[in-house]
Amino acid sequence: MQECLFCKIVSGDIPSSKVYEDDSFLAFHDIQPAAPTHVVIIPKKHIASMNEVGDEDYVLIGQLHKVAQLVARKLGIAETGYRLINNCGPDAGQTVFHLHFHLLGGAKLGALTGISSSHA
Ligand code: 5GP
Ligand code: ZN
Repeated sequence: MQECLFCKIVSGDIPSSKVYEDDSFLAFHDIQPAAPTHVVIIPKKHIASMNEVGDEDYVLIGQLHKVAQLVARKLGIAETGYRLINNCGPDAGQTVFHLHFHLLGGAKLGALTGISSSHA
């Protein structure tokens, strides 16, 4: 999957500002942060989106939540709070087709809006 942006970040072909790494996961600062703390957490395994998560992947997805917990603690937002988001597919605005979760925090976040103004 060498044409995949996040696979290239995993391999080091594209540099990233890493905040956590182990054999199965990588977490790095988002290049266009939407909050004071905005980290992208990915499994190193290439899974295109939540729709492609298979039965063999649910343990991995569970473990990813542990990584989110660790990263939140490491960056000092565990107690103040954070939001963990996955965008899946066009209506959610997914732009990178390698499964990832956004960890957002460091300030009071806006309400979940859901429908964009263009649909209102
Ligand atoms: P999506 O919109 O697919 O849910 O999220 C993709 C995220 O990846 C976006 O928040 C975007 O800013 C981030 N992103 C895209 N390209 C890069 C990159 O080269 N490096 C980093 N660190 N983040 C990226
Ligand atoms: Zn990939």
